[in-house]
This record gives sequence, C-alpha cells and structure tokens, in this order.
Amino acid sequence: MKDPESNYRGRLAPSPTGLLHLGHARTFWTAQERARAAGGTLLLRNDDLDTARCRPEFVTAMQEDMRWFGLDWQEPMVTQSERIPLYRDALARLHAAGLIFPCSRSRRDVLAAASAPHDGEENDEPLYPPEFRPAAGAPLPPLTDPIAVNWRFRVPDGEVLAFTDGRFGPQQTVAGRDFGDFLVWRKDDAPSYQLACVVDDAAMGITEVVRGADLIKSTFRQLLLFRALALPAPTFYHCPLVTDDQGARLAKRHDALALRTLREHGRTPETLRAAW
Ligand code: GLU
Repeated sequence: MKDPESNYRGRLAPSPTGLLHLGHARTFWTAQERARAAGGTLLLRNDDLDTARCRPEFVTAMQEDMRWFGLDWQEPMVTQSERIPLYRDALARLHAAGLIFPCSRSRRDVLAAASAPHDGEENDEPLYPPEFRPAAGAPLPPLTDPIAVNWRFRVPDGEVLAFTDGRFGPQQTVAGRDFGDFLVWRKDDAPSYQLACVVDDAAMGITEVVRGADLIKSTFRQLLLFRALALPAPTFYHCPLVTDDQGARLAKRHDALALRTLREHGRTPETLRAAW
C-alpha cells in the first residue's frame, strides 16, 4: 500500500530485446518488495533505445509476463525512445561544461590499444586509451544534428569513487584505472544507456535503483554523470544474478527459463518464488 508520507520511488527497467526470464523476475520481485516495504511507488520504464535489438512485440510480452508474475506498477509506462530531447539537453550541458569529447576511433582501434581490465562482460567497455583523448581544455567542435561521431565522458583520472550498496555494502573503484572514458552518445545518433538511465532516473524522481549485480560497474559511471549534470543520485541495491544449473548466467535467449515457457509448462509464480 502506498503510504502518503513515503517519498520512495523505485523502477523496473527492462529492455525489450527478448523474453523476460527468471532472473528478471527475481530482480523485479525484489524491487517490488522494497518499494512495498517502504510504502512507495514503483514505476515501469521501457529501455528501448537499442533500435537494432528492441522489438515492439517484446514490449507487450514483458508487460504480460510481469503482470502474470504478480508485478504491478503505478503511473503510465515511461518509454525511452520518446524522450530523446531530454537526453539531448543533458548532452548539451555536458558539452557546454567541457566534460565530453568526440571520438572517431573505431571499436577495433580502442580494443587493440586498450589495456586491462576488460573482462568482456556485457554492458562493459574496454578501458579507453588515454592517448586517444584530445588535450584537456582543447576547444570542442559543436554538437551536430544529427550526431555522426561518438561522444565520450572524460573520467577524472585517479579519483576514488565509492558508494554503499544496499545489498553488497561498500563499493569502491578508481576512475581511469578500473574504467575509462565511456560513451554518452553514439555516432548513429543515439544516447548511451548510461546517459539515458541517469537522465530518466532523475526525471522520474527515483530514490532507489534496484537491479542486477552486473550493473555495479555502470553505477560508478552513472554517479559521475549525476554529479556532472548536478542531478540528485538515488541509492542503489544490486541483486545477485540468477544462474542456471551449470552456473551460467541466464540470458534472454535461454528460452527454457523464459517466464513464458515456464508458464506454458504449468509453473505458477508461487512455485517459482518458493524455489528461491
Ligand atoms: N534496461 C537495463 C537492462 O535491462 C537495465 C537498466 C537499469 O536497471 O539500470 O539491462
């Protein structure tokens, strides 16, 4: 029940690139339980910026599967592809502050020159070679419309970044050593996940982000963006990742554990939750 005194706002933010699996359900269930325990509000955001992989039928499917599982959200769904001007404004602010730079290096150039760490994880980028950066303070070319070059955020080298995760406790990293200059806008004129996520979490008034532990590294990048944009940062609660019998992470293509498949095999949300 919503407590009128509560200012807690959480969100569920699936990407419609495939069918939701048990791992999503478990993280989303935690998000819902935390919102409920706080008497707060839970929102749904459709992270559909990856136009090559997102499909409208998965937007419908994810909503159906979430409702079947017992997930419930308040307020109309927020769709990222309808909010490009907001992200573009944020980009212009980063540009005006001189915090980003254009990068015409190919992914291959970056990979070839990048040093460790690069663990090849999804959602992660190789460490951007500092020698590829333009000199600090060099005048920036204007932002074009459409954008035809990658823009990266210049990380503060050597700065220790820290936050306390609601589930995993104190987390720390060193900018420029553990992660490098990261994409904020892509040359195909699309905002990066990092930028869109920060802009939306702030605009939606999110007070706590609950999501999978694979995104802890992204949290540090996002904290830099919240600060650069002078936006209030939420707190973070990362959920342990669900693995299959062989210990492999569930991917959306792992159809056997898609909620839809489990449902067709007669499993109920209650029996699935009982196994956690
Ligand atoms: N849409 C992102 C994903 O499915 C999650 C974003 C987030 O929770 O910050 O990986």
